[in-house]
Amino acid sequence: MQNKNRVKRLVKNNCACYFGAKYGIPNYCCLQDGPCVFFGQNDTLPRCIYFEKGVLSIDEKLEREYTSERNVESEFKTAQPRVNCQKCGAAFSAHSNRQKYCEKCRDKNANEKTKLRMRQMRKKQA
Ligand SMILES: [Zn+2]
Repeated sequence: MQNKNRVKRLVKNNCACYFGAKYGIPNYCCLQDGPCVFFGQNDTLPRCIYFEKGVLSIDEKLEREYTSERNVESEFKTAQPRVNCQKCGAAFSAHSNRQKYCEKCRDKNANEKTKLRMRQMRKKQA
């Protein structure tokens, strides 16, 4: 990983969970209660949600490299789950977990509901 050293520097300077050496553990992270994942040797592409959410955005260039390297795009930033529309099956990013239809189908649904309501209103009047 080319940007590992830059990630480390960013962690060192900006991560609130990073404490340097603590409890005899070098590069101690209070979230891990152990060494920071970015300072470990085993994982070639370590990830930390706290870092991605709160620290990484400081360095835009590094953020782009980091996310493309891990194929994460900006899923953490937007935190929008990818869902398949229950009507047409198209994949879309939902704004909430309750969202079941893509925007197109949602508009359609809304139109149909309005139509239905209008029809019922007309029935009542007749
Ligand atoms: Zn749809």
